[in-house]
Amino acid sequence: RVARQTQDAALTALSRDGQRIEVAANIGSALEAPGAFSNGAEGVGLFRSEMLYMDRQTPPDEQEQFEAYQQVLLAAGNKPVIFRTLDIGGDKPLSYLNIPHEENPFLGYRAVRIYPEFAGLIRTQLRAILRAGAYGNAQLMIPMVHSLDQILWIKSQLQQVKAELQAEGLRFAASLPLGIMVEVPSVCYIIDHFCDEVDFFSIGSNDMTQYLYAVDRNNPRVSPLYNPITPSFLRMLRQIVSVAHRHGKWVGICGELGGESRYLPLLLGLELDELSMSGPRIPAVKSQLRQLDSAACRELANKACECRSADDIEALLREFTPEDD
Ligand code: PEP
Ligand code: MG
Repeated sequence: RVARQTQDAALTALSRDGQRIEVAANIGSALEAPGAFSNGAEGVGLFRSEMLYMDRQTPPDEQEQFEAYQQVLLAAGNKPVIFRTLDIGGDKPLSYLNIPHEENPFLGYRAVRIYPEFAGLIRTQLRAILRAGAYGNAQLMIPMVHSLDQILWIKSQLQQVKAELQAEGLRFAASLPLGIMVEVPSVCYIIDHFCDEVDFFSIGSNDMTQYLYAVDRNNPRVSPLYNPITPSFLRMLRQIVSVAHRHGKWVGICGELGGESRYLPLLLGLELDELSMSGPRIPAVKSQLRQLDSAACRELANKACECRSADDIEALLREFTPEDD
């Protein structure tokens, strides 16, 4: 286990037998931060920064972003806050970027893929996050990464931006932990290479589900197939966690799956280090966690990985009770 320790013991989410798993919040604006912490969040596992850029005619400037990020960090105290860089394009257009309409937006020009064309926009965001990072425990996460080149590009931009900030005499965090969203399936085959370049991984189960099975997340005709609780998905999670842990890196999950209490025994059993969910889900998940035995959950997860169908996994879950150990 490589989960981070929180400062505050009363906040710490533990299973009945003392297994640690961090319970964090997903937020879309600085205004949501105080509520998340009063719900018992041990950190922010996903700050969806794109919300700052939407429903307006021009992008937020560096100062506006700095103030929003700083506000979250001040609300967090020493707790970690993961800022995800802009995840825009495709089905989430920004009028001022003038990206033409696409036939297949989820397979198109979105998130990290647009960064080289809009390098100035991303550098402004990196500057704002680095500057805010001087006021708390900020971490940086990049969406939709699928190749090492993309993360190397980000690192070179970070170096340049830090040199600028230094030359300007501005206060900033000299180094921030850097992670990627794992939401494109090909990443799973090169987790070891990413371990050389990044500090953590967070599974975006919403996108990962659609990409792993080639099932459009918005098409009702295939929605019965949109289910992350299958043998293939669980084996994939197990594989990611195993390789990342071997390299001393932690793995969280920040898609909807992370906050689904029905699946909490599986997620604990798969040895995920962090679950990030909407704030109101946190108290229930923490109290459910206190009922669970981690060895029983590991056994459950291993059995689930050997099931031959999603229905068989559901049957296993129905039979499983917290008392199993
Ligand atoms: C995800 O894909 O699971 C995720 C958290 O990102 P978003 O839902 O913002 O695409
Ligand atoms: Mg996503």
